[in-house]
Amino acid sequence: MKKLLALMALVLMSHPAFAEEAPKWSIAIHGGAGTLDPKAMTPEKRAAYEADLQRALDAGSKILAEGGAAMDAIKAAIVIMEDSPLFNAGKGAVFTWDGTNELDASIMDGRDRSAGAVAGVKTVKNPILLADTVRTQSEHVFLVGKGAEEFAVSKGFAVMPPEYFATPARLEALERLKAEKLSALDVDHKFGTVGAVALDQQGNLAAGTSTGGMTGKRWGRVGDAPMIGAGTYADNRSCAVSATGWGEYFIRVGVAHEICARLKAVRALNWLSFDTKGAAVTPDAEEKTATVQEIADAVMADVADLGGDGGVILVTPEGHAIFSFNTTGMYRGRATSAGVNEVAIFGGEEKASSTPDH
Ligand code: ASP
Repeated sequence: MKKLLALMALVLMSHPAFAEEAPKWSIAIHGGAGTLDPKAMTPEKRAAYEADLQRALDAGSKILAEGGAAMDAIKAAIVIMEDSPLFNAGKGAVFTWDGTNELDASIMDGRDRSAGAVAGVKTVKNPILLADTVRTQSEHVFLVGKGAEEFAVSKGFAVMPPEYFATPARLEALERLKAEKLSALDVDHKFGTVGAVALDQQGNLAAGTSTGGMTGKRWGRVGDAPMIGAGTYADNRSCAVSATGWGEYFIRVGVAHEICARLKAVRALNWLSFDTKGAAVTPDAEEKTATVQEIADAVMADVADLGGDGGVILVTPEGHAIFSFNTTGMYRGRATSAGVNEVAIFGGEEKASSTPDH
């Protein structure tokens, strides 16, 4: 009898549903999606991107593992990518038509859906921190241009000179765009926006996104990254999303909110689905993961139908950390308390399953 019980326990333990606890925390990050070509990327370049992604992921993971807030984790991860010249955010942002770097960012707290955003900012080293200050220290959600900079100074942010943000590679992209009458996508081949989403051990979600926009942008153009509902959204009842891609399309689809709204609806129905005979089926963990992935993919397909491309990262209250993109690659990473820890660049490079085992 004892042997039988031990055997049953063994069988149960080896079943994925019992193998591990659901992740207590999870985090996903991105450094932009795009038409990335493995052949065009040198091993050195790849290693540099992977190292910065891993540093950002580790900074966020450490905070979450120690019981810190999702909000703090995403800020820590995004600041590292803003400070890296490799990504199109903070230092290393793309150039506008007029030869300036204009930064956009947004952040949202899933607990109370408090949100902050800034656009067209030229003097703030870490726009994500300014967006967060708008969230916590103003009665507004969205500040732009000069006004946002005045607000920054009033809250003690240092004024950075334009040279801080400018990098030769981005300037060269602007010059080529102008000389050869190319589009932003022709010269960049990718969107280098950065973002992070996290679930903490208290069950709270947060999302943030930061960008320089698209090379050669003019007339005060603003994309989806600083728009709550398009590039960023977080709601403890559904998910946290950060997007990267051709902003105009993401705005029209309302990508981040759309994904969260669909997930909220699915959750309201207790994840119920129906088999071919019409009988109600209660999904297991793997089927739930498939549902989350399907929802993200469906919204990205909607973007593609309109002619846009890009990608999203999302986490759920169950601990899923999921990517969806319709480009050949997306700089990305994810980690969970269940032992997932990986960064990837091209499509299909993930090693871990994102199914929370519960
Ligand atoms: N979504 C950003 C924008 O349209 C660009 C990016 O993702 O890199 O401004």
